[in-house]
Amino acid sequence: MPRSTFETELSGLRRKFDSGATRTYEWRRRQLKQLDRLLQENSTALNTALKQDLGKCAVEARLTETAFLRAEIAHALGHLKTWMRPKKRDMPLSLQPARAKLQAEPLGVVLIIAPWNYPVQLLLSPLASALAAGNTAILKPSEVAPRCSAIIAELIPKYFKSDEVFVVEGGVAETTALLSLQFDHIFYTGNGHVARVVMEAAAQHLTPVTLELGGKCPAWVDQSADLQSTARRLVWAKFLNAGQTCVAPDHILATRSTLEALKPHLIAAIKAQFGEDTLQSPDYGRIINARHFDRLIGLLANAQVVSGGQHDMQQRFIAPTLVEGIGDSHPLMQEEIFGPILPLIEVVDLDAALKSIRSHGKPLAVYAFTRDSNVKDVLFQHTASGALVFNMAVGHLGAPDVPFGGVGSSGMGSSHGEAGFRTFSHMRSIVYKPFWPDTLRLIMPPYGRVVERVIQHLVAKE
Ligand code: NAD
Repeated sequence: MPRSTFETELSGLRRKFDSGATRTYEWRRRQLKQLDRLLQENSTALNTALKQDLGKCAVEARLTETAFLRAEIAHALGHLKTWMRPKKRDMPLSLQPARAKLQAEPLGVVLIIAPWNYPVQLLLSPLASALAAGNTAILKPSEVAPRCSAIIAELIPKYFKSDEVFVVEGGVAETTALLSLQFDHIFYTGNGHVARVVMEAAAQHLTPVTLELGGKCPAWVDQSADLQSTARRLVWAKFLNAGQTCVAPDHILATRSTLEALKPHLIAAIKAQFGEDTLQSPDYGRIINARHFDRLIGLLANAQVVSGGQHDMQQRFIAPTLVEGIGDSHPLMQEEIFGPILPLIEVVDLDAALKSIRSHGKPLAVYAFTRDSNVKDVLFQHTASGALVFNMAVGHLGAPDVPFGGVGSSGMGSSHGEAGFRTFSHMRSIVYKPFWPDTLRLIMPPYGRVVERVIQHLVAKE
């Protein structure tokens, strides 16, 4: 696909941005309201697409996609004026009289590339931040969730002008063509391999990137925890969207005695949440496609199934599955699972758990279910991750005031709330200096005793 394919659209978006119209509070507010209207007026169509692509039930679709987004938008609308307000900065005595401020400025035209697992939320949440920050945007939904991609491509032009928000549907060819163009920011959510392609393309134009990636989020559990509540929370977080969640607990780390005590609670929680036969549960999702279904079934080889394991290719169904008896060299521990398989990994103690956690790079989140404040402190001191969450998993995404993002192999930059607004803004330093009194002359050549005093004053301040 030639590079020029989307040049016309990009020029339109850039002209609009350059006109200055998108910088105003009113424009930003209007766009956020439009996005909210899109979600409110088309919830049935969006829910249907999510059901077709991922078997998502309407409640889960609202909880994790449309209502989630509307809450983000409401938060942005409520805080936008404060976020846009200039922040005063101090000036040193040596530069007085003068004043300085930081002003959040929009970046320009941004490219948002989304994955398939939360195909609406992960495309439109960065869009809300980009619009709040006063940018125009090209959206690239994932071709792997085709119904969601199609409905978004149909709806966006009804609510936004093509020089404000523009959707490009397609796969590698379209994304490659887009990446060859010059944007002012690229926000990519997906896997680490493609992230490298994105970063390489961005480097050609020195375009800054935000990368929201994945990894293996571990969950440490110890006997000080309320095991019944731990099991319920882990089961919900792991089997939401059939395990296809970037921050899902990937595996449980615990000692043998804790695992033995936890197992019946996990099995009971699965039954309580999805019934005796998960295939019949109206609340349980499906695997996105045959490729991922085959990958997940392949991962189950040589693992001891504790519960679940049933699957049906025709319906892209894999039951919530607990496995045990696997070591660090098992394929399940070699890659992000991204499906409804939860390994119970036995470790001798917390030290061994720390070793395992650190061997998998820096995940999006480290979870720990414990009442022990020493354990909390050790995890804080000796692990690195996008987030560290105690006695809950996944839920922290629902807090717009808590920045969401990875570190190291799980990504760079952050999203949600003010963090998202900042991602799509440049904090511009603005300095005002009067001509009189002309104190700057004191630090100009020919250098004498006064400049020495200024230097001494600067150093003394340290
Ligand atoms: P995906 O296959 O839909 O790919 C993501 C995007 O990259 C798509 O828009 C796709 O068109 C584009 N793409 C794919 N190959 C490309 C190529 N060669 N060149 C250019 N563009 C290309 O989704 P995925 O990557 O399978 O998503 C799953 C991964 O995303 C998991 O690792 C998961 O943990 C991670 N994820 C992270 C977050 C987060 O917020 N940190 C959220 C969801 C998913």
